[in-house]
This record gives sequence, structure tokens and C-alpha cells, in this order.
Amino acid sequence: MYEQFKEIGPHFELSETHKMVKQSVREFAEAEIAPNVKEWDQAHTFHRPILKKMAEQGLLGISIPVKYGGGGLDYIALAIACEELERIDTSFRVILSVHNGLVCSTIWQWGNMEQKKKYLPILTSGEKMSTYGLTEPAAGSDPAGLKATCRLEGDEWIVNGEKMWISYTESSDIFLVFAYEIDVRHKGMRAFIVERDFGGVTSGNLHHKMGVKAGETGWVNFENTPVPKENLLGLPDEGFKVAMAALDWGRYTVAGGAVGGAKASLEAAVKYANERETFGKKIGHHQFIQGMIAESVSDIEAAELFTWKAGWTKNLGRVNTRETSLAKWYATNAAVRCADRAIQIHGAYGFSDDYPVARYYRNVRGATIYEGTNEIQKIIQARYALGYYEDKPLRCMPPKYDPDEWAKEDTDKF
Ligand SMILES: Cc1cc2nc3c(=O)[nH]c(=O)nc-3n(C[C@H](O)[C@H](O)[C@H](O)COP(=O)(O)OP(=O)(O)OC[C@H]3O[C@@H](n4cnc5c(N)ncnc54)[C@H](O)[C@@H]3O)c2cc1C
Repeated sequence: MYEQFKEIGPHFELSETHKMVKQSVREFAEAEIAPNVKEWDQAHTFHRPILKKMAEQGLLGISIPVKYGGGGLDYIALAIACEELERIDTSFRVILSVHNGLVCSTIWQWGNMEQKKKYLPILTSGEKMSTYGLTEPAAGSDPAGLKATCRLEGDEWIVNGEKMWISYTESSDIFLVFAYEIDVRHKGMRAFIVERDFGGVTSGNLHHKMGVKAGETGWVNFENTPVPKENLLGLPDEGFKVAMAALDWGRYTVAGGAVGGAKASLEAAVKYANERETFGKKIGHHQFIQGMIAESVSDIEAAELFTWKAGWTKNLGRVNTRETSLAKWYATNAAVRCADRAIQIHGAYGFSDDYPVARYYRNVRGATIYEGTNEIQKIIQARYALGYYEDKPLRCMPPKYDPDEWAKEDTDKF
């Protein structure tokens, strides 16, 4: 189908593989997450055994080549997996955001052969879980202002610092960590693959969050953590670039997930509008309700198109900061609007735990903050439009999707 239309421009049909991914992740999420998610959310508990099941399902390395233990599927498949997980609950999509997006894809993009061979198979198989530690108590939107430090002593880097608001710290064995060697904004920053077992690593969970309560958000401290020299990711002065390129992966998964969150809200709203009656008719027949439903339909369609375009750009191996940021900004705001409308359509019941729409709202609201707040995404869009930013080739470009190469199992050809 695609071959036929390649010369005449974009096409909007999911491939048979994408449809299969959609169906299998949906079945998985409905069977393994949906029945218990309300309880996990209310208990503010992450159900860790789900990680093994996600690994068995092939979700933890879906868009990494088969020879590195991944699923060998393209980046649209990654967005679809995120969408289907977040359709049930955001907490489980966040696992794909940090583990697949921010860590695996970043190692795949920036890692040298030894790093890819050593880390990707244990990550894609779920043998080890990972997360991304950029944010600190006093540095979020301005990560160049972070305070963590590193110094080279012999064959080891010694890393010190405190990372805050980090997803899945408690469940993670491996951290992608950013710290300054020299006090030069951007260029002084280094990126490291840090294993918990290296020593000096402590972590904990944050409680009383507004959303993603069925998942983990926490802190992690590094106190004189010795990191082997070979675990520096990228060249020494590329740390900040690695951090930003990682966000191009993470934000994309957030956008894909937000489409799922928005769809869940619309599904719930439509169902309720077809059941609830006022003034002798189903509320779906009132025009104000129809207006809210229609606005959500248009939000979802646009969010999906932005996300697919970002995925298409990634598949081509192009720098995609602008496209990905736009998708993340639009899709997460759209998801908040859709959840808000779903609550309104449910009336008082939307304001309770009897229906899932309040949980949807609490969950999707966070996505307008993490991986760069939506104010930061606006700044990115404006700077591109004004000509202050432009895409420049990176030393390590985002890996282009190559179906034949990615499907090869031959590990000799790493
Ligand atoms: C649930 C959750 C999970 C997270 N997971 C991770 C993770 O796994 N790893 C990680 O590293 N981080 C993670 N974060 C942190 C997240 O990325 C940061 O919270 C985010 O980047 C914003 O930083 P901040 O909270 O310090 O806000 P601040 O930077 O203090 O911003 C405060 C406000 O000021 C606005 N603002 C800041 N600068 C400007 C500007 N120049 N112009 C206009 N407005 C501006 C912001 O948009 C915001 O509204 C997570 C956060 C949450 C809530």
C-alpha cells in the first residue's frame, strides 16, 4: 500500500504490523492492567510484577533492532504501544517513556559498540530496568543549571548529585545521569550510564502525587559513585546534546501516550452520553454535550497526526526536535482538554472515583509538565519559527528505521 502512494505524499494508513501491535498491546493492557488499576491508583502502589509481563510481551525494546534483543519495529509502533498503555493508565506508558525512549533509544543513538552490546540486550529483555536522571531539586526547565558533578580519577568518574522527580527510580537498576565536570554551561556537562551496583546510589519514592499514582516517581542520590571511564555516553562535551536528544525520544512517547489518554476520555464520555438521561432524553442529544464530544474528536485527530508525523520523521532518521516538541505540546494539552470535557459530561459522577475520568485527568495533567513543560515546548516552536533555532546534523543522528537490518538476528554483525 505505502509503496503505491510513496510518490504522491503522506499516507495515513496503519500497516498490518501496526494494527497487530495495537491489538496485542490493547489486549495485554486490558487483561493485565485494567482490572486492577483503580486499586493500584488508590493505594498509590506500583505493581512491580507487571514489568516482567511487559518484557515477555516484547514491550521493553519494541523499537530497537532484534540483534540487540528488541522487537525491530519502527517508531510508529512505539507510539501505538504508548497509546494503548496510556489508554488504560499513564503510569504504564511512563515505563516506555523512561526505559525505551529516554534510555534504550539514547544508548542506541549515542552509544559506542561496546555500550550497545553490553547494555541494550539486558535492557530490552527487561533483565535490568532503567531511568533518566536529569532533573534536580533546583533545575528542571533549565537543565543546564544542574548542580551534579563528576571528576575523573584514574579510570573512573566520581559522580555526586541529587536527582529529583525521576520516574521509576526504585525499580531501576541503571540510570542515565548528567553531571558537570567543569563549570561551563552546556559544554561542561557529561552523560553517564550508571549502574545501581556501582555504589553510593540511594533512592526513594515521592508520595502524595496528583497523578501517575499506579507508577513510581522518586529521587535518586549519587554519593561518590564510581563510574567506569567506558560508561561515559557520547564524547565528553556532548553531555548536554545527549540529554536533549534523549528528550526527543521521551517526548515522542509522551505524545503517543497522550493520544491514548485523550481517546480513553472520549470513549468514556461517549459511553456516558449514550446512557445518562436528562429532560427525557440521552444527554448525547443535547448540543452542548455534542459540542464537547466534537471538540475532543478534533483534538484527538490532530494530536494523532502530529504524533505520526514526528514518528515518520524519526523513521527517516532525521533530527526531529521541532516535530516531536510540537506533538508533545499539542497532544498533552489535547489530552487534558479531553479529560476535562469527559469530567464535565459525567457531571457530579465525573468528580468522583466511580468513573475513571477523574483519574484520566490527574494522569494526563502531569504530561504538560514533564519532559519539558509546555511553556518550554512553546519556546521551542517560537524559536524555530523565528529562525533562532535550526536543525543541525548531530555526530550521532537518530537511527533511521531499516526494516531488513533491524529484523536480523545475527549478533556477529553488531
Ligand atoms: C510525574 C513526573 C515524572 C517525571 N519524571 C522525570 C524523569 O524520569 N527524569 C527527569 O529527569 N525528570 C523527570 N521529571 C521532572 C520534569 O521533567 C520537570 O518537573 C520539568 O522539566 C519542569 O521542571 P520544574 O518542575 O523544575 O519546573 P520549573 O523549571 O521550576 O518551572 C516552573 C514554571 O516556570 C515555567 N518556566 C520555566 N522557565 C521558563 C521560561 N524560560 N519561560 C517561560 N516559562 C518558564 C515552567 O513552564 C513552569 O510553568 C518528572 C516530573 C513529573 C511531574
